[in-house]
Formats: sequence, structure tokens, C-alpha cells
Amino acid sequence: MLGGRMMELLRQKIENEGIVLSNQVLKVDAFLNHQIDPVLMHEIGQEFARLFKHDGITKIITIESSGIAPAVMAGLALHVPVVFARKRQSLTLTENLLTASVYSFTKNVESTIAVSNTHLSENDCVLIIDDFLANGEAAKGLATIAKQAKAKVAGFGIVIEKSFQPGRKELVQMGYRVESLARIASLEEGKVTFVREVQS
Ligand code: 5GP
Repeated sequence: MLGGRMMELLRQKIENEGIVLSNQVLKVDAFLNHQIDPVLMHEIGQEFARLFKHDGITKIITIESSGIAPAVMAGLALHVPVVFARKRQSLTLTENLLTASVYSFTKNVESTIAVSNTHLSENDCVLIIDDFLANGEAAKGLATIAKQAKAKVAGFGIVIEKSFQPGRKELVQMGYRVESLARIASLEEGKVTFVREVQS
């Protein structure tokens, strides 16, 4: 499925199955955050792979738990491993940690995310994938971790971007490439309004 059709499919899924919880928050538990639609995830993975296939990606990094499904599908398509940052302390993840502090938009808490430095090095060129981009906290945290490992960041692959929040702008100002498959302009009046793409 080519890029435009894939994005249309995702937009329809958001319109039909997404629930607007407030002017700020969209619930997509029907296909991404709780129940997962593997066919849609597969298409999403293919699309990220298409967008970044010439960038020499050696690894994908994401954050548990909702980034894992789209990231694994992209990893499968690009034939590269996927590393997910942990949000909770793990008994087995104790040494040589790369960490960043991230404020959670949905949970309202500050947490430390961690990746073992065994899985990331200066020879890596990483694609950072996440389910949502809001204020960019999770994305910036993952970029901080990549930088600690001296890995190169090729860009960000985001499934749903809420364009009315500052995440994209900040990442772009920092010089990063941001590819979002669905861009939401507003969640006002209980309705999802997408950013209108300029026709070229
Ligand atoms: P940010 O760090 O960019 O502020 O927020 C991104 C993270 O918060 C994502 O990893 C996602 O899990 C969560 N998130 C932010 N906004 C939403 C939303 O509207 N709906 C859902 N389901 N998760 C969100």
C-alpha cells in the first residue's frame, strides 16, 4: 500500500474508532494502545520503512509499551533490531544504563526512561518511533539517550501527531526530521480535525 492510501486508512481508523476524551487527549485503545490491529501495524511499519529506507538505519528505538508494535513492524520491514526504553525499573536491566528524564503527558508524572548501552553505540544510526507526539517529551528523551550513546539520529517516525501541541515544532527547531503518519489539527468539540495537507 502506498503512502497516501496508508495514511487515509489510518485517518479512517482514527475517525471511526478513536474516542476524543478532551480537547487534548485522543483514545485509540481499539487499534493501538490496548487492542492492536496487526494489519494496520504492518502497513505502518512498511510506511516508516519506505520513508527511511535511504537513511542507513541500523536500529530503531522506541518506548514501552505503545511504541513497540509500530516499531517492531518497521524493524521487520527494514531488517534492523528494535530497542525499547523501559519506563519502570527492571531487575535484569541494572548496569550501563543510558537514561533520560521524561514528563508523561497522559499520566502526569515524571519518570526516568532507560536503555542498556549494550544495545546502542556510536556506530548506530537510529530511527526513533512512537505512537503519539504531543509535547515531545518522550521523543526528546529518546534522542537524549541516542546522543549519550553517540549514535546518529536519522529522524522520528510518529503514528499520530497532535500538531496543536508543541512537540513537532521543537523537534524541527532542534534540526530533526519528523515523519508523522496522521497529523491532528484539533480535538475541539469532541471532533478529530486533521491537518490539511497542501496538494502539490
Ligand atoms: P509527549 O511526550 O510528546 O508529550 O507525549 C507522547 C507520549 O504520551 C506518547 O508516548 C503517548 O504514549 C502519550 N500520549 C500523548 N498524547 C496522547 C493522546 O492524546 N492519546 C494517547 N493515547 N496517548 C498520548
